[in-house]
Amino acid sequence: SKVLVTGCNGFIAAWIVRTLLERGHTIRGTVRSHDKGVRFKEILNGLGLGKGFEFVVVPDIVKDGAFNEAVKGVDAIIHTASPVLFSTEAKPEDIIQPAVQGSFSILNSALNIGNDTVRRLVFTSSAAAILEVDSEPRKFSEANWNEQSVRECEELGQNASPISKYRASKTLAERTAWKFIDDNKDKINWDLVALNPPFVFGPVIHDVPSLSALNLTPAMMYDTIVRSDSEGKERQALTGSNSWIDVRDLAEAHALALEKEGVAYERIIVTEGPYVWQEWADIANSLAPIHLPSHSNLPKGTPLLDGAKSVYQIIYDNSKANRLLGIKCRTKEECLKDIFADYEVRGW
Ligand code: NDP
Repeated sequence: SKVLVTGCNGFIAAWIVRTLLERGHTIRGTVRSHDKGVRFKEILNGLGLGKGFEFVVVPDIVKDGAFNEAVKGVDAIIHTASPVLFSTEAKPEDIIQPAVQGSFSILNSALNIGNDTVRRLVFTSSAAAILEVDSEPRKFSEANWNEQSVRECEELGQNASPISKYRASKTLAERTAWKFIDDNKDKINWDLVALNPPFVFGPVIHDVPSLSALNLTPAMMYDTIVRSDSEGKERQALTGSNSWIDVRDLAEAHALALEKEGVAYERIIVTEGPYVWQEWADIANSLAPIHLPSHSNLPKGTPLLDGAKSVYQIIYDNSKANRLLGIKCRTKEECLKDIFADYEVRGW
């Protein structure tokens, strides 16, 4: 089938495109500039996959009808384009508006222009639209919605925490999608599936010209696990804890969400499970001598004792994903080995 992937040159979307091409789909991707499209096409050519790929330039996803041309004749849509940044300076609406309006825009084009061909829209939401921050460890499921970040942005405006601005954008964008389905259910010929991954890590295949241009979550891994203190970049505390998934498993989850029966109108948390950063640090230190020989002194923190149980702050119920998608997720060790191989090739 022919699949439209919005924001196809991003960290996650690049893997989605690759995975779908390898599974025999053809892809139309949207990018914000011609250059970005050309560079991404070259990467796919290098993988021997360029033939099944074309791109269209959508310079501003917020504009009314922005995706009208892009949706023509496609069988399915994966909507990933959304701002991914944690910003102190941004006002909440700087992030929320493109996330929400961009979502509305793709849904609207799918209905007005694509309704005769499109059969499903897979929406890349986030666990950011689910979790709320608490002092106690908590377990979340698809029944939970992150109202907390939305409230914080309403109350504090620009002074809301950088991550809350992003999280509010994901809550409001996903809610926009479900409301659109509800408001137009008599007219829509396609269905909606939302995927809600937590932090996504893994090797990169999209165009990253330099380490400083690395996208948010892969950079978080580099800055926390590899970068030495002296370089002065902020790093996550190794005591910090969240949940994660390997980018390649998330890409497969998107493919399955497109292909499977029985997932229509579901929101689905997709995760390997929880972590504390110290676990990543310990694995990194054990792998480094062989897998990252160019770095000899990774941050050590306080290594976990054998058999010690980590306290995980944010845990997700992933039983729905197991039941409906049945993906087998890579482990932290498998993920980090491939990330290190990528660093070695790139000279990071
Ligand atoms: P990237 O920053 O790598 O990719 C984001 C994509 O969206 C890029 O193609 C980017 O285009 C595009 N984009 C960003 N802002 C805009 C805008 N204002 N208008 C049009 N396009 C825009 O991020 P990820 O790959 O990490 O994230 C992709 C999706 O996955 C997002 O929806 C994100 O919320 C979601 N997600 C990510 C997680 C993570 O841990 N990384 C976790 C959970 C969900 P350009 O290259 O031109 O900037």
